[in-house]
Amino acid sequence: MPPTITKEACLLDRIRVTPSAEATQNACKLCAPLGAALVFKGIQGAVPLLHGSQGCSTYIRRYLISHYKEPIDIACSNFSEHSAIFGGGANLKLALENVRHQYAPSLVGIATTCLSETIGDDVAMFIKEYRRSKTGQTLPPIVHVSTPSYQGSHMEGFHRAVWATVSALAGDERRGDARRVNLFPGMLSPADIRHLKQMTAAFGLEAVVLPDYSETLDGGLWKDYQRVPEGGTPVDAIAAAGAAEASIELGGSLAMARETAASFLQQRFAVRPFRLGMPIGIRQTDVLIQSLAEISGRPVPGCYAEQRGRLLDTLVDGHKYVNTVRAALYGEEDLVAGMAGFLAEIGIHPVVCASGGRSMHLAEAIRAQIPASWHAETAILEDADFTAIETAVDTARPDLIIGHSKGYAMSRRLGIPLVRIGFPIHDRMGGSRLLHVGYEGAMALFDRLANTLIERRQDASPIGYTYM
Ligand code: SF4
Repeated sequence: MPPTITKEACLLDRIRVTPSAEATQNACKLCAPLGAALVFKGIQGAVPLLHGSQGCSTYIRRYLISHYKEPIDIACSNFSEHSAIFGGGANLKLALENVRHQYAPSLVGIATTCLSETIGDDVAMFIKEYRRSKTGQTLPPIVHVSTPSYQGSHMEGFHRAVWATVSALAGDERRGDARRVNLFPGMLSPADIRHLKQMTAAFGLEAVVLPDYSETLDGGLWKDYQRVPEGGTPVDAIAAAGAAEASIELGGSLAMARETAASFLQQRFAVRPFRLGMPIGIRQTDVLIQSLAEISGRPVPGCYAEQRGRLLDTLVDGHKYVNTVRAALYGEEDLVAGMAGFLAEIGIHPVVCASGGRSMHLAEAIRAQIPASWHAETAILEDADFTAIETAVDTARPDLIIGHSKGYAMSRRLGIPLVRIGFPIHDRMGGSRLLHVGYEGAMALFDRLANTLIERRQDASPIGYTYM
């Protein structure tokens, strides 16, 4: 039976309208090891290794390659029926040995799959045994993150991998470095990461960004194939994360989580945490800029006043196209919460906000971003699949749908235009180059939203306006 949402439920009981269903239909999330693999792809010289069957790594590679348009090497311990019954220890040790010799990695990041989690493989013990068998040899750091997909989405895998890497590598280095800041950006595009690095540099800060796949997944042309693309966060820099002046962690839902990389560094090394929302739109970008000014002790560079001014001028110029528009929004929780705030400040009401994630912080993060007068008219769906989302969107009949490519079929069926943001974008070019953050990201998003609305009005007009 497909999950159903009654009109009354959608209009009156706004929070958690997703009813229980026997099966997920077209999930609005991807699997947890995918998020972890993405984090390891953002560490210099690192190789992700999935402990499980080849199908899992193929599925993950397929999604990452179709979005980033780059070759993505992800190793696998290649489970067979034998390993499923007797355990995957021997496979994992062999995989580690192969990865070491074929890639000479600076770090191996092991993420477990559903199968290895279900049979209860003790990965930490396998790693210890492997290390013991190589006594006297120099091994790269091996980071292990538990990522059963039946307990979490790709976002949870992503955040867990960041936490696992920092807690495994950050040393007991208490020397404060006033110019260094740890930046945990969350799952943003390579263009976003580059923009955030420019922002921290503009304040004279050296950012250790984890993960930083701005080059590894968005690099230039190669003459010869590179097994591990250049770029990424140096392992040494992560090891020194405890010596930074502060940690900036982005994501409205993540900011409510108990155990994160920033909270670990605060507890272990007293590194000041700045746990902020996604800097999408004016308010949240202002918060990030103010935080950078506070950490660096420097005034805000003039270029940001100029960018902010251009953004305000853009909003004034185009307000007539977006004002009173209603939108449906779905994707990763942090992105949805950040986008909801941005839509609210430009006058678009996000009447449906949905995510396949289940941190259970989404509703609170969205309520903090939108006017109180909209709370009763905003359906928030957590742990939702596309069947539930489509029912809610069909009930609300918004003017726009905003989310990743997995919502295309819904947009086509309902006849409502889709503006693509986030991950995965596999039916358009430029997913890696989409800018969401900062004043410039807000301007780019605003233009895309307004132009989509203008195009829709033109297409719907019997006389086909050429001047609007
Ligand atoms: S079995 Fe689990 S880990 Fe493997 S692809 Fe499916 S959801 Fe991901």
